[in-house]
Amino acid sequence: MPGKSITRGSVIGLNAYSTEAKLIGKVTDLEIDLADPRNTMIVIEKGTELIKLPVSAIKAVGDIVLIESEALANAVRVEKGATETRAETAAQQPAVQPSKASAPTSAATTTAAAAPTTPVTQPVTQPAPATQYVIPRCPNCGSALIYYPKYRAWYCPKCRKYVTVPPDVLSRVPRCPYCGNYLSYIEQYGKWYCYNCNRYVEV
Ligand SMILES: [Zn+2]
Ligand SMILES: [Zn+2]
Repeated sequence: MPGKSITRGSVIGLNAYSTEAKLIGKVTDLEIDLADPRNTMIVIEKGTELIKLPVSAIKAVGDIVLIESEALANAVRVEKGATETRAETAAQQPAVQPSKASAPTSAATTTAAAAPTTPVTQPVTQPAPATQYVIPRCPNCGSALIYYPKYRAWYCPKCRKYVTVPPDVLSRVPRCPYCGNYLSYIEQYGKWYCYNCNRYVEV
């Protein structure tokens, strides 16, 4: 395989034969690819047709150029003076491809948009102390209850009625450090309030 040693001068003007010993035509050019010499093409003139083959198709160079018959079947054939047309076997391939690309893009965007709905439903419990404190809530509407020390009772401002808080919850409600009464959680500000001292208390 004399691949690298082929030069323009050594092949141009020679007759090219296939390995089946058929005359293909006369070598008229060597299109040298400087970036990748393996892509260099040998050009054979056959009547009005130019046949382009990669130099790797050359089996031998001597008084003639011997071309591998299999490579010849896939050769690029150019009508002299016309634009390039590929050999029949290669011509069918490129037309099929572009239709695939457009389909999957719309499906991907719709599924992504639907996802983030869950966090909204969570109750507003995060400002509550990280300790074991519990906010007494109305069993009817879930609002934070207000403790009125004067009446020693828990009141739901939304339902407008007094609510009994179970002892296990009550034991975990923070107390005012100044007067010892239960504190009320004010959801709007995320703070605890003493309705006896009428002030917010850090717990
Ligand atoms: Zn309520
Ligand atoms: Zn107080």
